[in-house]
Amino acid sequence: MTGALRGVVALDGPSGTGKTTVARKLAGRLSARYLDTGAMYRVVTLAALRAGVDLADEHAVGALAHDVDFSLGTDPDRPDVRLAGEDVAAEIRGPEVTGAVSPVSAVPQVREVLVARQRRMIADAVEDDGGIVVEGRDIGTTVAPDAPLKIYLTASAEVRAARRNTQDSAAGRASSVESARESVERRDRIDSTRAASPLRAAGDAVQVDTSELTIDQVIVALAELARGRGLLGDCPAAPAAAEAGVSR
Ligand code: C5P
Repeated sequence: MTGALRGVVALDGPSGTGKTTVARKLAGRLSARYLDTGAMYRVVTLAALRAGVDLADEHAVGALAHDVDFSLGTDPDRPDVRLAGEDVAAEIRGPEVTGAVSPVSAVPQVREVLVARQRRMIADAVEDDGGIVVEGRDIGTTVAPDAPLKIYLTASAEVRAARRNTQDSAAGRASSVESARESVERRDRIDSTRAASPLRAAGDAVQVDTSELTIDQVIVALAELARGRGLLGDCPAAPAAAEAGVSR
């Protein structure tokens, strides 16, 4: 099937900005593929925890990332995550993995292995379907620096903590706004201060503050940006862009 999006939309930003929901829905709306790179770091972290690898041992964690047998789907309607064939989509979102993923993602060898795989998946998706929405922390800066549209989502710390708390509660995980806030701030601190491709906006990224926007408003704004860059082919017309919160 040929999608309406042409090329790569890179979607970066800290936790709780709505990246995952926005990226999936945007990909669905634009008949594009979808890549959740955070799921890759999470599945490697789950494998390390299960194997009892000392997470402070960078060599051991790096070697594991090299050997781990996982697969990740790029259909926005069914983004499967499998570890040695087992469906781990729910487990990788649990508190053990969430608490351990940032130090694992800071290991340079882990990033080297996963970024190479992400680039292959992006190239295959563009070749097969025309376009892909890729979400993460370093997509616009490192994974796909030539992406024709780079978005950096932000939201206030209060809003991000409240969203994460709602998600955790909905998934049946014990949570409070305070614990969610501590968790997102801790991850953002590690993600933005690590030496290997830290979280930061690419110089040419469009910053979108999602604090006051609904998911649909964000999607409409991003679809309009994609159209403005000439990235949409035979896609049905999107409604007018929500201007609020979008700065170029
Ligand atoms: O997006 P998500 O919250 O699932 O990402 C989990 C973690 O994976 C992040 O906190 C970050 O440490 C790491 N990550 C990364 N680079 C990416 C995507 C995620 O370091 N491109």
